[in-house]
Amino acid sequence: MPEVIQNIKLLSYTPNAEKLTAMAAKLCYSPSGIDDIADGLTKDKAAAFIGKIVDLGHLSTIEHASFSFGIEGVSRTLLAQITRHRIASFSVQSQRYVSYSDTGFSYIIPPSIHALGDDAVKKFEAQMQTMQVWYDEWRQALGEQGEKSNQDARFVLPGACETKMILTMNARELLHFFELRCCERAQWEIRKLAWHMLALVCDVAPALFGTAGPSCLRGKCSEGAKTCGKAAEVKLKHSEILKGKK
Ligand SMILES: Cc1cc2nc3c(=O)[nH]c(=O)nc-3n(C[C@H](O)[C@H](O)[C@H](O)COP(=O)(O)OP(=O)(O)OC[C@H]3O[C@@H](n4cnc5c(N)ncnc54)[C@H](O)[C@@H]3O)c2cc1C
Repeated sequence: MPEVIQNIKLLSYTPNAEKLTAMAAKLCYSPSGIDDIADGLTKDKAAAFIGKIVDLGHLSTIEHASFSFGIEGVSRTLLAQITRHRIASFSVQSQRYVSYSDTGFSYIIPPSIHALGDDAVKKFEAQMQTMQVWYDEWRQALGEQGEKSNQDARFVLPGACETKMILTMNARELLHFFELRCCERAQWEIRKLAWHMLALVCDVAPALFGTAGPSCLRGKCSEGAKTCGKAAEVKLKHSEILKGKK
């Protein structure tokens, strides 16, 4: 029953994502047919097309590219937030089919609790241990009948409990997700995940994602009076991520 940290992998993505989305954009605005739509569409030309359509907000064209991530070492608290993104597809490790009694549940300790020092971390870990005992007691009381017992014993598990998922978003949804969740106003755990995902997709599709992130990267902060006022730091963080990826 250890503390775990975020582990994220880009498992799969649409091959030639940039060329495909550029083809979709070109088809809308040129007399080309399907047989010649890819003609002359070099990497640079595709990137220029994508830049234009993203600026224009003609974002249905980039829905043709999808990206799938394997995510573990994140909390059920994060799960509650990320599943609010309705255009995404999720497969999440089940707390009905998977029991935590043999191995114990893993958990995430917030950095703010680590910052309080060793005693605070020990206290947090002891609390997790107490919840493990509660969980085991309920599974036993409910007859240890696999999913039938797991599904109700889990009610005593904490928001810190680790979950694992496979998540797929198309490029349009990713741009939206990065705008909301890379923002300093987003909660730390989903923000950390969002920046990590952004770095992964920038690596494989820089033309699609090179300007993605919170609104302050591209102009005025959309948070109004609640702005963090850290646009310069956010821009620096973004440029660090993009270094060497174009
Ligand atoms: C900083 C922050 C704080 C938050 N605090 C809270 C909170 O206190 N309480 C709370 O409940 N939530 C909170 N949320 C979650 C937020 O309300 C949204 O549910 C979440 O960010 C998903 O955003 P979305 O609906 O735009 O995105 P998605 O579900 O990913 O949808 C993408 C876009 O598709 C369109 N769309 C999707 N579904 C529909 C639909 N049914 N009808 C019309 N258009 C649709 C919209 O244009 C939408 O923006 C918070 C989010 C952030 C970033």
